[in-house]
Amino acid sequence: MVKAVVGANWGDEGKGKITDMLAKKADIIIRFQGGANAGHTIINNYGKFALHTLPSGVFYDHTTSIIGNGVALDIPRLIQEIQDITMDGVPQPKILVSDRAQIVMSYHKNFDAYEEERLGGKSFGSTKSGIAPFYADKYSKIGFQVSELFDAKRLRTKVENIVEQKNVLLEHLYHKPLIDVEELYQELLGYKELIEPYVCDTSSFLHDALKEGKEILLEGQLGTLKDPDHGIYPMVTSSSTLAAYGAIGAGIPPYEIKQIITVCKAYSSAVGAGAFVSEIFGEEADELRRRGGDGGEFGATTGRPRRMGWFDCVASKYGCKLQGTTDVAFTVLDVLGYLDEIPVCVGYEIDGEVTTDFPVTSLLEKAKPVMKILPGWKQDIRGIKKYEDLPENCRKYVEFIEQEIGYPITLISNGPGRDDIIYRKFNG
Ligand code: GDP
Repeated sequence: MVKAVVGANWGDEGKGKITDMLAKKADIIIRFQGGANAGHTIINNYGKFALHTLPSGVFYDHTTSIIGNGVALDIPRLIQEIQDITMDGVPQPKILVSDRAQIVMSYHKNFDAYEEERLGGKSFGSTKSGIAPFYADKYSKIGFQVSELFDAKRLRTKVENIVEQKNVLLEHLYHKPLIDVEELYQELLGYKELIEPYVCDTSSFLHDALKEGKEILLEGQLGTLKDPDHGIYPMVTSSSTLAAYGAIGAGIPPYEIKQIITVCKAYSSAVGAGAFVSEIFGEEADELRRRGGDGGEFGATTGRPRRMGWFDCVASKYGCKLQGTTDVAFTVLDVLGYLDEIPVCVGYEIDGEVTTDFPVTSLLEKAKPVMKILPGWKQDIRGIKKYEDLPENCRKYVEFIEQEIGYPITLISNGPGRDDIIYRKFNG
């Protein structure tokens, strides 16, 4: 059976923690999209880790971690991450990399930075991990697939073609140093050596695993609102963040995905540019940012302060809908314990009309939040294990949001650790 753990919002909802927790009962954990541009923070008995490329199951020795074909594979980053965790005492994880995954090249990162520089103040706020140039090349059919590393002659010819094309842009659009054919070829040979021990046909591996009844977890990156089709285009990422894409990015039948656990944070945060209707500013935002997550809401990859806001029922209802949510994991609820009152965004006012349907970007930019104020619970809820033991106003907050978004909240996370979790009607 396959379960997916995905985000409802802009990312950073706490998917890493939920995946790490569910991985205890899983056999295989797969990353199916995205690259090293976002990170999961995980706290467990080995310490605190920021993973960017590795699936969040690498901390268990009974699991196999897979980098699926849909991932933007940054080979030096992957190898570095494996080294980092093993140096911290984590046993060498079992990792398989799809022979159909494509490779993030050094020039993808350069192009990412050059384009941000060219756009100046109108930039997307990219993390400069090469993700947009990578996926652009993949769909322009000029990317390097891992399998191609193993055919030297074809590889050399392809390198020559690509260098010719890239150098036109480097010379005339960006005015930057050109790429050298031999250097690029050597870069690829270096990647071959590093990745070879991990490469296999992961889709076949997964089909066999499904026949054997194995438990498989798909781990999403970012969230619905960053999806290129259904998100806040163009302030989105370059690969689909939806559970449905898990079938493609892992190479499994779509009907095998039986449970979709959509992670929603009890308040909002976002990185990068784009409309953010329930955003707050000033001291109110600073305080939430300082208290948020585990040690503050700062990017796991960049360290950038995240933009903060109150919970947005409109965005989250939409986010859950597009994921095909069977379960909502409601996270970081403990952080709100300091507030006397908790504002929640329950509608958008656009051109004088109130809606609870999430609109397209041009309308979203005009939306003003319609807020409802709920009473706080003024209590530390960390350590509570049973839903009934939560303070009444805390339960009312959960139930209000469940009602507004229309999907069952079956997991509640009340702390960053693996065991800080409250099960509520959760199946599995
Ligand atoms: P992801 O990319 O969706 O996995 O999210 P991040 O790892 O970027 O952000 C989630 C942050 O919140 C991390 O620092 C987690 O350790 C932390 N976190 C996750 N769940 C909880 C929770 O329930 N309470 C608190 N206080 N922190 C949490």
